[in-house]
Amino acid sequence: VRGVDIMRDPLLNKGLAFTLHERQILGIHGLMPAVFLHQDQQVYQVMQNFNRWDDNLDRFIYLMGLQDCNEKLFYRVVTENVELMMPVIYTPTVGLACQKFGMIFRKPRGLYITIHDLGHVQSILGNWPIEDVKAIVVTDGERILGLGDLGAFGMGIPVGKLALYTALAGVNPRNCLPILLDVGTNNDSVRNDPLYIGLKQKRDRGDKYDQLVDEFMKAVVERYGETCLIQFEDFGNHNAFRFLQKYRDSYCTFNDDIQGTASVAVSGILASLQITGKKLEENLFVFQGAGEASIGIAKLLLMAMGERGLSQEEALSKIWMVDSKGLIVKDRKSGAVAGEKILFARDHKHIENLGDIIKTLKPTAIIGAAAIPGAFTEEILKNMASFNQRPIIFALSNPTSKAECTAEQAYNFTGGRCVFASGSPFRPVTHNGQTFKPGQGNNAYIFPGVALATIGVEIRRIPESIFLEAAKCLSGLVTKEDLAEGRVYPPLSTIRSASLKIAAHVAEYAYRNDLAFLLPEPKDKKAFIESHMYNTEYANYIPDVFEWPGVERESQ
Ligand code: NAP
Ligand code: MN
Repeated sequence: VRGVDIMRDPLLNKGLAFTLHERQILGIHGLMPAVFLHQDQQVYQVMQNFNRWDDNLDRFIYLMGLQDCNEKLFYRVVTENVELMMPVIYTPTVGLACQKFGMIFRKPRGLYITIHDLGHVQSILGNWPIEDVKAIVVTDGERILGLGDLGAFGMGIPVGKLALYTALAGVNPRNCLPILLDVGTNNDSVRNDPLYIGLKQKRDRGDKYDQLVDEFMKAVVERYGETCLIQFEDFGNHNAFRFLQKYRDSYCTFNDDIQGTASVAVSGILASLQITGKKLEENLFVFQGAGEASIGIAKLLLMAMGERGLSQEEALSKIWMVDSKGLIVKDRKSGAVAGEKILFARDHKHIENLGDIIKTLKPTAIIGAAAIPGAFTEEILKNMASFNQRPIIFALSNPTSKAECTAEQAYNFTGGRCVFASGSPFRPVTHNGQTFKPGQGNNAYIFPGVALATIGVEIRRIPESIFLEAAKCLSGLVTKEDLAEGRVYPPLSTIRSASLKIAAHVAEYAYRNDLAFLLPEPKDKKAFIESHMYNTEYANYIPDVFEWPGVERESQ
């Protein structure tokens, strides 16, 4: 590689941190000003810029620019400032960035495979310049956060998710590949946006779409092997469930919206038991929304209650679901209950309105994942506080604009008694002199750690139980202090160490259950995984130059 290529490669570049000898040896001396900066000084420079902006989208654009030119520096700043930067590179700002993706687009990142490329996916994958990809996050852009179909603008999500693989779990960025399957978009305003970057056509809903996904899966194994992890992200409801079912037993894959969300929510519920003093099965759950997130959570709850000795029937009796047509009951007149929801359809009269449902059922916990902002009204929150000493209120919809209620509303309308978590971050809330630090019930607590373990010890298939294990591990990391501040998750500032612990726990579990293929089995899983984590120190480009004793080393 030529020196300029190193300078231009974001994975290798060190900006003004190249030393004098490096500049000379690499043949890039003079291509930059005379100063030699330490990485610490570069961090200072980045933070000056970051803090100069008032607007998080501006910060997003700035940070993406940094990621495009110096990844080590980008990850150093993000990992040192997770709490500050996550809302910028992830929810909620990443949602806005996707909506404006055409405008802020500067340089492509990741791989775009379109429906017209059917039959040629293998060669497109072959164009990716890196040989050792170990993790792919793929979307078709149909259900980006709670924002709906954004088509190719959805690429912001795989890029952001994989940035968290590295920032939160130390997966080497060169092993990560974001992919967008561009099959069109049914969102007219996106498609007609003069700055739209994708195929200007309606979504392909036919056989070709399935063929494309199939060809893609096979091409990944062909090029990167069967241990390459494929995380499905932000697919539309029907396809998400379908593909999970279709591929989970024959590929190394999971669906983050169904399974990652399930894990983080169940973790929050397990931790909440320490506050409410209840057993898991003494709860009654009402889900607002019966989609990927809710069904995923509900199914994992069934598994968790099953482990505690409940029959499927008993466990099902603790769970109620509400979709766009109201309470999910058998023989519903206002809209037949189909697909994944059937399992949860109850023998009960139909009730349409969420407020009435809550009044009738008097649940201990309400979990929102329908992207209907404000769905948890003042009345609902007050009622929850009247039925429960410590009501559980999870407003999981993203981004912030889609949250079922704000943290402030949750605490104010429950007299500060609720156990609250939200998908996107909220600032601390002071109620009656007490300050609450709302926890973020976001799958970012789960997928990086699960991915780290999967890659680290070569887990080839990912059974549901892995997500329950991850949930138990995460809930065990919540301290008395966290609980006292109203948080059922460890603070975001500790999320990196949480990811590592989850990875180690999952790896242990994987070996115990013959799911891990890396041999020999590392004794200390945590130390082993940690030793492979990416570090943000710059490489040294000075070759190992030395003398041979007593030997003429140059021709005379
Ligand atoms: P989805 O599969 O499209 O499901 C949405 C569900 O909401 C559907 O069941 C839909 O009902 C229901 N719904 C729509 N309008 C409703 C209404 N007025 N009242 C009650 N239910 C209504 O979407 P998803 O993947 O579950 O995602 C939903 C939300 O969860 C998004 O905002 C997403 O960002 C968020 N989420 C958060 C996390 C996290 O980590 N916190 C993770 C994943 C997703 P029908 O079935 O009748 O259409
Ligand atoms: Mn998602």
